[in-house]
Amino acid sequence: RAKASGRGFICFFESEMGARLRERSQLERDLRLALAEGGIALHFQPLHACATREVTAYEALLRWHHPVRGPVSPAEFIPVAEETGLILPLARWVLEEACAAAAAWERPCTVAVNLSPVQFRRGNLPALVAEVLASTGLPAHRLELEVTEGLLIEDAEGALEIMRALKAQGVRLALDDFGTGYSSLSYLRRFPFDKLKIDKSFTQAIGADPGAQVIVEAILAMGQSLKLRVTAEGVETEEQLDFLRRQGCDEVQGFLLGRPVPAGQIPGRAVVTAGMPAG
Ligand code: C2E
Ligand code: MG
Ligand code: MG
Ligand code: MG
Repeated sequence: RAKASGRGFICFFESEMGARLRERSQLERDLRLALAEGGIALHFQPLHACATREVTAYEALLRWHHPVRGPVSPAEFIPVAEETGLILPLARWVLEEACAAAAAWERPCTVAVNLSPVQFRRGNLPALVAEVLASTGLPAHRLELEVTEGLLIEDAEGALEIMRALKAQGVRLALDDFGTGYSSLSYLRRFPFDKLKIDKSFTQAIGADPGAQVIVEAILAMGQSLKLRVTAEGVETEEQLDFLRRQGCDEVQGFLLGRPVPAGQIPGRAVVTAGMPAG
């Protein structure tokens, strides 16, 4: 009996896994197609100075509208793209789109682009960044690259070397989702970050969970003593914004002040068309 039920379990397990694998490869095919045919878009979410609420930057966020499934979250399709290598052409597209968009904005603020750890392992990142800055004409200091803590643990030496090469070009580096991984103070000192982004799980606990609130205060104090800018992600209430401002947070990002919007909704520079005959 034990044997029979064991086999039954294995059969169930195999069919489950098979179904999941089929779904993954279907998602991969669909994603490849979407990338080729324009089914993927970039949206931009504003970051605001805490004190004045002025927009300081926009973060580029991938959006995929699947023809059958509807919107698919990047949290779902980025891991698939990373496993299949599709992340490299996708990431190149994101960087080109984001820098080209930012170069045409009326206000010369920063554009933040998320990077995948795969881009650090494969795909010559400093060369890609140099190439895209040159082709779009975006000044390097207006590009901020966001990485997550996982990258620093996997291959710290390799990541550090690439980050130094990026910094040497004049781009800025931010540590995203701070507090959710394993990074320690020593990491923060070793890597040439310009900014920390407090993960939204901490921000959203402000006013609700005193324990998490203490962590936010500690991160802000640490950021200040390490001379890093600190952005809080996921700000949804005035109470959270008030608290962050009083604690000396530099920037906020969240649905309270602005949701991600399509690129076309950000005011552009007046385009000068030379040689147009007057009416
Ligand atoms: P992230 O880089 O931490 O981006 C912030 C996420 O928080 C975005 O989710 C944004 O829509 C969401 N968010 C912003 N404000 C609020 C708020 O007030 N409340 C709540 N509940 N959420 C808020 P999104 O767009 O679903 O992206 C999820 C993650 O997918 C990103 O997290 C990033 O890790 C990844 N991602 C998105 N675009 C790219 C990309 O172009 N390349 C790479 N490698 N990863 C990307
Ligand atoms: Mg980010
Ligand atoms: Mg984040
Ligand atoms: Mg995230």
